[in-house]
Amino acid sequence: MILVTGGAGFIGSNFVLNWIAQHQEPVLNVDALTYAGNLKNLESVRDSPRYLFAHADVADRTLIGKLLAKHPPRAIIHFAAESHVDRSILGPDAFVQTNVIGTFHLLDETTRYWRALPEARKREFRFLHVSTDEVYGSLGPGDPAFRETTSYAPNSPYAASKAASDHMVRAYHHTYGLPTLTTHCSNNYGPYQFPEKLIPLMTHNALNGKPLPVYGDGRQVRDWLHVSDHCAALERVLESGQVGQTYNIGGRHEVENIAVVKTLCGLLDEMSPRLNRDPYASLITYVTDRPGHDRRYAIDCGKIERELQWTPTESFESGLRMTLRWYLDNAQWVRSVVSGEYRAWVERNDPSLVSVS
Ligand code: NAD
Repeated sequence: MILVTGGAGFIGSNFVLNWIAQHQEPVLNVDALTYAGNLKNLESVRDSPRYLFAHADVADRTLIGKLLAKHPPRAIIHFAAESHVDRSILGPDAFVQTNVIGTFHLLDETTRYWRALPEARKREFRFLHVSTDEVYGSLGPGDPAFRETTSYAPNSPYAASKAASDHMVRAYHHTYGLPTLTTHCSNNYGPYQFPEKLIPLMTHNALNGKPLPVYGDGRQVRDWLHVSDHCAALERVLESGQVGQTYNIGGRHEVENIAVVKTLCGLLDEMSPRLNRDPYASLITYVTDRPGHDRRYAIDCGKIERELQWTPTESFESGLRMTLRWYLDNAQWVRSVVSGEYRAWVERNDPSLVSVS
């Protein structure tokens, strides 16, 4: 089986759903269910004999050790993290705890587990660490896009904590030989994204007639990738990536935040017009910029394209349209996340839950 951490979050749940749909190999999802973890995302697979869930913190090494012994995986895909930059500015502690200490404990327990494997399984084992392009810092308008060799220059507590975790992964490969792979992906969007991130937040606010708050002048540039393309890239890296290597993953679609919001508004005008027929863009309001807001991220994903023959299949326009369709069709999911109602749901007995005692 494979073990996925953070599988109840946005990208993790997309990965798990996709995995169960496409593979016979079981998945063990290890998630602490923070505010960002939502088992409702996985409702459609929870009765599958190929899906298991363990409610556990990756920083709890005793529990992680027990899980590895009881459900020995051939690979670990490590998504679990605190992932929201704004939250990292307000409270960096949780970011250090999960992203740095949590990754360290997970790596250490994984190494102990991996060392005891028979030779053939040891050779095949992989630890795939899912990281971000934010570790590379901010680019000027004419700077070349981030490559795997670009120096680290993290600017937010989130980016710094991810950078620290990347360094630990690298060190565990070089020092102990753990077969690791690291990926750096640009901004993801798609179904099941918590409505605190740009696209679901703007969609939710727009549909509820609320202001659409754009930071600063809105001209910060990001690269966007549909989550299904990210998951496909991770699978490619897992199966064919070279041990010890890092791979940048991006959508080759650089766009200013304000343009994302305007495109989204235009699509909503067409897909779900307002009752008064006013354009959604009239709700845009500019708000004080985030402190230390990085100006531009751009990712050069030539290495994964060349070496692993991966390219994104979804254009931003088609991916955004699909995503808005999903949010329009899943208003109940959004309501339950916004109201926090999904937390109560999680308290109920979940048949996929494995015992870790
Ligand atoms: P998310 O915030 O939606 O989900 C994180 C998940 O991790 C949640 O299910 C949460 O409950 C779980 N978690 C948090 N702390 C934990 C802990 N201590 N132990 C176990 N589980 C814990 O995040 P996401 O957007 O799905 O991102 C997943 C990964 O991808 C992160 O590592 C993030 O840095 C990386 N990434 C995200 C993006 C993006 O655009 N969202 C882009 C590049 C990389």
